[in-house]
Amino acid sequence: MAEVTLRKLNKRFDGFHAVKDVDLDIRDREFVVLVGPSGCGKTTTLRMIAGLEAVSDGEIRIDDSVVNEVPPMDRDIAMVFQNYALYPHMSVAANMAFGLKMRKFERSEIDQRIRRAAGILGIESLLDRKPRQLSGGQRQRVALGRAIVRDPKVFLFDEPLSNLDAKLRVQMRVELKKLHERLAVTSVYVTHDQVEAMTLGDRVVVMKDGVVQQVGEPLTLYNNPANRFVAGFIGSPAMNFADVTLRESNGRMAAEADGLRIELPPELAARARAHTGAKAILGIRPENIHVATAGDAPEHCFDAGIEVVEQLGSEILLDTRVGPALFVASIEPTLQVRPHDKLRLALRPERLHLFDAQSEQAI
Ligand code: ATP
Repeated sequence: MAEVTLRKLNKRFDGFHAVKDVDLDIRDREFVVLVGPSGCGKTTTLRMIAGLEAVSDGEIRIDDSVVNEVPPMDRDIAMVFQNYALYPHMSVAANMAFGLKMRKFERSEIDQRIRRAAGILGIESLLDRKPRQLSGGQRQRVALGRAIVRDPKVFLFDEPLSNLDAKLRVQMRVELKKLHERLAVTSVYVTHDQVEAMTLGDRVVVMKDGVVQQVGEPLTLYNNPANRFVAGFIGSPAMNFADVTLRESNGRMAAEADGLRIELPPELAARARAHTGAKAILGIRPENIHVATAGDAPEHCFDAGIEVVEQLGSEILLDTRVGPALFVASIEPTLQVRPHDKLRLALRPERLHLFDAQSEQAI
């Protein structure tokens, strides 16, 4: 069993506050992904869990033991780095054996563990090679193998796929997922790639400026982002935003801007009512906008001027101007549209989001 608990975790570098009061309960066997833009403090958080960075304030527990002062070697964790950190002069087998030798494992036990890990990763035929004789994907497997042979309580991953080309990255992502299903070891994974976060994480932790913005299952973050930052960070293409004013007329709440008036569905209207007259940010994802049909209520339709048409084969992305806002819409790939066309679009009202203009928290 291995739970990792962070309590009011802080890191300051010479006065720069990089990680701020991070609280997190990582459950046994859970795969948790820390995600956020460059500089948000995710790597520093991971390095504190690893023991590679001292904690300024707060507590890290692995199961019931506080490990703040425990050296990395004694934390029973294995870390996989972005640059693989393989010893160039050692063979693959020797790289995998290294950590075990340091820990004084018997030769037979080391051999057995290397064979098992190599089998899991499909690298049996590479054991005698040197790292320079391997492709990027193979090196990444060896780095994983070196972590697996340790049979640790916790795996820590620091952007392990970021040096691979796009196709290989997708393949390795699937392999990592399978690996986690097979080994079921508590894992903490750092990435700036929200697709990686969404596909790998049992839960995802979104960070910005050293602060946790939201923790949740991928679909919870996608469907119920806690604030505008999470809403814009999770999902590709990104959620559309428009500055609006919340108004009530004839008992109906609507979000209004020049050339745009969208009536709010009942649940959202009920929450928005307390903000009547206030400025807010309306959010709608590209996939929740479509070309209006007779079935769409007029209060959920609007006119858009097409600026750019991106044909992706599976869908068309339209960059459109809607009043003062720019909206991206994902529409049927068969539709014939050209730049400068005018189009009547409709949105799915139950998929609307509203954020307070000042705090940017979800309304
Ligand atoms: P990236 O994806 O670019 O690695 P990150 O979210 O992992 O970003 P961190 O590496 O954790 O971010 O860094 C968080 C902040 O702390 C950054 O502003 C960084 O410049 C700063 N920082 C990190 N390490 C040090 C250090 N040793 N000394 C001073 N500042 C540091």
